[in-house]
Amino acid sequence: MASNKKLLVLPGDGIGPEVMREVFRVVDWMDKRRAVTFDVSEDLVGGCAIDAHGIPVTDETVGQAMESDAVLLGAVGGPKWDNLDFSIKPERGLLRLRKDMELFANLRPAMVFDALAEASTLKTDLVAGLNIMIVRELTGGVYFGEPRGIEELPDGTRRGVNTQVYTTPEIIRVAKVAFELARKRDNRLCSVEKANVMESGVLWREEVTKLHGEEYSDVELSHMYADNCAMQLVRAPKQFDVIVTDNLFGDMLSDAAAMLTGSLGMLPSASLGDVDATGRRKALYEPVHGSAPDIASQDMANPLAMILSFSMCLRYSFDMGEEADLIETAVEKVLAGGLRTADIMQPGKAKVSTTVMGDALVRELDKLAA
Ligand code: NAD
Repeated sequence: MASNKKLLVLPGDGIGPEVMREVFRVVDWMDKRRAVTFDVSEDLVGGCAIDAHGIPVTDETVGQAMESDAVLLGAVGGPKWDNLDFSIKPERGLLRLRKDMELFANLRPAMVFDALAEASTLKTDLVAGLNIMIVRELTGGVYFGEPRGIEELPDGTRRGVNTQVYTTPEIIRVAKVAFELARKRDNRLCSVEKANVMESGVLWREEVTKLHGEEYSDVELSHMYADNCAMQLVRAPKQFDVIVTDNLFGDMLSDAAAMLTGSLGMLPSASLGDVDATGRRKALYEPVHGSAPDIASQDMANPLAMILSFSMCLRYSFDMGEEADLIETAVEKVLAGGLRTADIMQPGKAKVSTTVMGDALVRELDKLAA
């Protein structure tokens, strides 16, 4: 049965268009083999938008993003635009999209495909089969709190100030996203803060506990201090299913968790906003990596993080869990078959280009659907 899903694609700069090209092939495959029609439009963001329009994202593009069911973004930035004023740098395009779409929940899965378990800096048995999800609050906390700034005191010394601040609705909306995710996974949520030393952490813990009692008592909830969580992530990461935490702790813990998997080229992400009156949730999907100017235009980039971002898009925006599973299984099989782009190359494996990795993925999809 055909359906129409409005997808805005923003390939961006550097390797962005190269890895997005491989996603287009998967979109085509879905169209032909699963009879799922996406209404795809493509636009500019980042350096390419600066070149075309003088700004990193136009109002029209932001408008299109607001009206789409989901946005897929490659990566932005590169040396060509490094010397521009901060206010019109490529990254501002991405920041504006996140802000205008009010994307408050950042989902970063850390998944280790068996074939890559040896690439982690941790012992193989600690990470083999790892599948955790970190939900980071993205629009509040100390990165945005007021007062902030650097001031000079009467005695001539200087003082830098940032404010960690969270309100009840900010905590509840991100906790809800995390509880809902846990329900679709192993039904376990660990809420992380520093309630031992921070009032905002006390409030966070109280609100999450209250919400759990009121709406999510079927989910197993635990609480952990952020410093302990950092230790546990490298000691025994498989103990976690879903972690929910604030902006600052999430920034660090999600990067630490990412490195358990061994490669930037394998890491997808999603940023979600609120559900609107029509039941649609604004969402942007992008790989964790940047535009990798050092390997751009060389057909060397690993397209799997981008492809896995598309699979998250299918799962969370279009409720197409079966198709998302299909893509993830195809990725697993391609890796098990020994193909590697340069970033994940291991001894005895076959080094392949971006295009050949995409070819292999589509072949696996064909086999799985046969
Ligand atoms: P980067 O992620 O682009 O690259 C870091 C290293 O990882 C590089 O050696 C690169 O070759 C490698 N790498 C990254 N993705 C890869 C892939 N898919 N396959 C193979 N190798 C890959 O980070 P950077 O070098 O710090 O930044 C480069 C540019 O990207 C900068 O302009 C930066 O501002 C921008 N950036 C953008 C985003 C984004 O768009 N979300 C995120 C981070 C950095």
